[in-house]
Amino acid sequence: MVSRIIPVEAFDLVIFGGTGDLARRKILPGLFRRYCAGQMPDGARVIGAARSDMDAAGYKDMVADAIREFGGGRSCEDGTLDAFLDRLHYVAIDARGETGWSELTDLMRDSVQVRAYYFSVAPSLFGDLAERLHSHGLADDQSRIVVEKPFGRDLQTARALNASLAEHFDESQIYRIDHYLGKETVQNLMAVRFGNTLFEPLWNAQYVDHIQITVAETVGVGGRGEYYDKSGAMRDMVQNHLMQLLCLIAMEPPAKFDPGAVRDEKLKVIRALDKVEPHHIVRGQYAAGPDNPDFREAVGDARSKTESFVAMKVGISNWRWAGIPFYLRTGKRMSARSSEITVVFKARNHSIFEEDGEDHRNVLSIRLQPNEGITMKVTIKEPGPGGMRLVDVPLDMSFAEALGEDGGDPPDAYERLIMDVIRGNQTLFMRGDEVEAAWAWTDPIIDGWTARGDVPKPYDSGSNGPTDADQLLARDGRIWREVRP
Ligand code: NAP
Repeated sequence: MVSRIIPVEAFDLVIFGGTGDLARRKILPGLFRRYCAGQMPDGARVIGAARSDMDAAGYKDMVADAIREFGGGRSCEDGTLDAFLDRLHYVAIDARGETGWSELTDLMRDSVQVRAYYFSVAPSLFGDLAERLHSHGLADDQSRIVVEKPFGRDLQTARALNASLAEHFDESQIYRIDHYLGKETVQNLMAVRFGNTLFEPLWNAQYVDHIQITVAETVGVGGRGEYYDKSGAMRDMVQNHLMQLLCLIAMEPPAKFDPGAVRDEKLKVIRALDKVEPHHIVRGQYAAGPDNPDFREAVGDARSKTESFVAMKVGISNWRWAGIPFYLRTGKRMSARSSEITVVFKARNHSIFEEDGEDHRNVLSIRLQPNEGITMKVTIKEPGPGGMRLVDVPLDMSFAEALGEDGGDPPDAYERLIMDVIRGNQTLFMRGDEVEAAWAWTDPIIDGWTARGDVPKPYDSGSNGPTDADQLLARDGRIWREVRP
């Protein structure tokens, strides 16, 4: 299969925080890969901006090292790295002061249509950057800003952030990144649902028994202990990533695949979410493993009540989904790294075969990572003589196998999203009202834990959370899908 590269216009992309971890690990290697794919037109430039005092040569060296370390080894002809580095500039700038702003103003070109400013800095600097871009005349109607997560830590802070950005930028210029939406397989959720006649007629309370969404990580909090202790799985994963997956799986078909229509439908799902009862949520904190300290040691707070695992049962009160549970689960130090959405269909309402005691029903699993693909469990006749015996088999489609080279090495989420910014396509970015609605649903859950002094249940590192998480489904006569690597 030949991949179609859609050209983009020449652009100036300024990365504030251009020396930081995210820039080095994701943004710059992603840009390099797009350059290798021929998607960076002549005249496109990338300008790193941070306080560190370095010249353009020093910055290029830093970026070259980052690409070698995090570039994913994508093949690229000799000399291409140097050619990419020629596109780079660096400005030492202070988001909170006046240093560097006149240099940046001199560097920016009026001739280029697209100016994008990536705020890869702490959220506390977002407002300062927006203000200074405006006061230095760097923001015009064509400018775009890209903001990273976390977008607030509750409804109040998200509203304040939205308001500070809205002072200088229209909503159509603001690109709030949830990198989950940039993953090929997450976009595939929409393609599978709305590109086939097969699924959509069955995608409702009449045919679906329940839906599970699992995002399991094997890593612990790593070097992010201080941040994570203030955040926890609910803020770090559920409010954004799992919420987005839930929206895509549950939303009504948008009239068109365009930013307004898709985001309107996602917002309706969030607004239809039921209030979650305390006994429908399980929080966990990982215990020490053979090679890792326990959560509290990892975050440096022996009394931490922050959760590294959440499992919950969520309802959506609308015509399509009333009465159908959505079970969400995410955690660190789980048994395998795996993100999967599973749609478990209802059993047949009548069987013409002799009952064999087995629960034959269709199960559609969409694997987001690793080994992206789709599996459909179907019931067939067990081969051989001796009457009609049923057996369940997987119809297994690995995208890598089905699509060959292109499917096996899809562009990283950041690559895709940055190019969407340049193209001016906001479909895969969160709108301000979506983020606020997600916080409005999340806040009472977190406030309830705080008010009750809730303490997360310990779970073994390498397990799939506290046993209470299994009980959550067992009470409904269901079990979690196996977390498969
Ligand atoms: P980081 O490694 O701490 O980098 C922060 C960057 O901001 C550095 O380049 C720093 O450079 C610059 N900076 C700090 N203060 C500044 C100022 N006053 N003016 C101008 N530049 C300033 O942080 P990060 O991990 O890259 O994260 C950046 C953002 O992305 C954060 O909002 C984070 O939550 C989000 N994010 C990160 C990841 C990730 O994997 N790292 C994932 C998702 C979201 P100087 O010190 O030289 O100024």
